[in-house]
Amino acid sequence: MTGRTDRPSAPPRSLLSATGRAIRDFDMIREGDRILLGLSGGKDSLSLLQILLDLRRRAPVRFEIAACTVDPQSEDFNPSRLIPWMSRQGIAYHYERQPIVASAQTSMSGDSFCAFCSRMRRGILYRVARENGYNVLALAQHLDDLAETLMMSMFFGGKLRTMQAHYTNDAGDVRIIRPLCYARERQTRDYSIRAGLPVIHDNCPACFAMPTQREAMKQMLAEQEKQNPRLFASLLTAMKPLMSGQHGPTDGESQNPRLDTTPQNMWIPRLRAE
Ligand code: SF4
Repeated sequence: MTGRTDRPSAPPRSLLSATGRAIRDFDMIREGDRILLGLSGGKDSLSLLQILLDLRRRAPVRFEIAACTVDPQSEDFNPSRLIPWMSRQGIAYHYERQPIVASAQTSMSGDSFCAFCSRMRRGILYRVARENGYNVLALAQHLDDLAETLMMSMFFGGKLRTMQAHYTNDAGDVRIIRPLCYARERQTRDYSIRAGLPVIHDNCPACFAMPTQREAMKQMLAEQEKQNPRLFASLLTAMKPLMSGQHGPTDGESQNPRLDTTPQNMWIPRLRAE
């Protein structure tokens, strides 16, 4: 961390208010919280960092923010802009290089790569949180992610399920929050471009490299939204009981929010050339 900070333009009011409402509705941030943000380097987590920094300046409660990036050592993950940029954000930054892709070659058993990757990442984030005394883990999934997850779960799993907005992990020592759960993906995309955030476009070693169930759900929802502009408002109302865990556990420790177990996604990405 250096003394110099590098402040991009402030997030738009619409994004701040969607995030603020979600934080308030689900009681996500409490006095004295020490929050670790899972920062993949994608547009969503980079936007969430700026939103949390902005909200912290005006929030009625005091809380700390730090960030952690898990580098999966895949071929396409290039953090050369992200790392120096993060060093100018004025917060603690943890950069964890883990051979997730290489480990998948030897340790994956009957899982999709995505499920394996998700478990590894979550385990690393929990370890960093425990080692450094963070009691909250913030993740950057937005409303589009939650709606796609619901569709995938219904279509392929026969269950009404999506990611929870706020819950405590099985070990009981870390609260997981999703402050973007009311925000639309296009809001983070637009903001990340306007603010010139150092987005790593290939931050996922698997899912962005080939078509997935999630991409099919995204396209289906986009088609429906053309006919019904209030589609996501309706979906949010329908999902609220699932997001608050009223229908039982919906985001277990071993469950991957982006889980995709179609055969075409049981592949393992290429290793990064060192
Ligand atoms: S979506 Fe990509 S980065 Fe996230 S868990 Fe799946 S494979 Fe890993």
